[in-house]
Amino acid sequence: MTIQWFPGHMAKARREITEKLKLIDVVFELVDARVPLASRNPMIDEITAGKPRLVLLNKADMADPEVTKLWSEYFEQKGLAVLVINSKTGQGINRIEAKAKELVKEKFDKMRAKGIVKPRAVRALILGIPNVGKSTLINRMAGKNIAVTGDKPGVTKKQQWIKVGSSLELLDTPGILWPKFEDQSIGLKLAVTGAIKETLLDFTEIVLFALKYFKDHYPARLQERYNLETIPEEPIALFDEIGKKRGCLMSGGHIDYEKTAEIVLRDIRSEKLGRLSYERPEDFIQ
Ligand code: GDP
Repeated sequence: MTIQWFPGHMAKARREITEKLKLIDVVFELVDARVPLASRNPMIDEITAGKPRLVLLNKADMADPEVTKLWSEYFEQKGLAVLVINSKTGQGINRIEAKAKELVKEKFDKMRAKGIVKPRAVRALILGIPNVGKSTLINRMAGKNIAVTGDKPGVTKKQQWIKVGSSLELLDTPGILWPKFEDQSIGLKLAVTGAIKETLLDFTEIVLFALKYFKDHYPARLQERYNLETIPEEPIALFDEIGKKRGCLMSGGHIDYEKTAEIVLRDIRSEKLGRLSYERPEDFIQ
């Protein structure tokens, strides 16, 4: 699903989330572990103001585990609770309930002491940009396929609560937020990880961006996969080398960049290059 976000859509999304926030105690902010900042909404702090938040680094099965560790520390240092998860298999999600309880404990204790609330489940909302895995996580946590994807026009659906474990309730529809559009590298990161359709961007540009990153961070994997003796300094020369090795030549001996890009992108998607992350906390130190 690719949503085109316009100011009107953003305002509507925000209004819907503000309504949902009234019903809940804690926000689960879902991001892609491979690009935790690029897959974040730029206004998340403002939108969720006042609500305790748990950052979930999803799709961790595809991310570089060492980099994911750095990201966990990064979010913790910012004072946010964080868990590393894989919504597809459910790995890590059994720790969500306990974390959520921890986050609201103080507030709940106070409310109970004042007699405002009887003991009740912690209520949570999943928030995230499209394709980050919100429905997959809801289905996993629910234990059966109940998450409704997409709205039916003309039908107002009542909010439903999904019971998770003994003391957590999840809203059955997530809050969909827009990604950052600030700079082109964010678009490229979202395209290479599949959050936005690559047809919206130039195919070869996405791969050139990825190769540039791999050259600096995963050179050995490139060498092994494409049988390269050395890694050329220039990303475009690296593109050429891979094209040659894969026989992607056009008449006159020119490299067929589109074909080469297709091969590399397929390799990335099918994890032939291993588990990869496309940004690190150190990239953001000014
Ligand atoms: P939503 O738009 O945020 O609701 O995203 P979806 O739940 O539809 O997921 C988008 C894609 O990501 C689907 O193809 C999922 O199977 C996949 N996905 C979701 N979570 C994970 C995960 O933790 N690991 C992997 N490998 N794929 C995931």
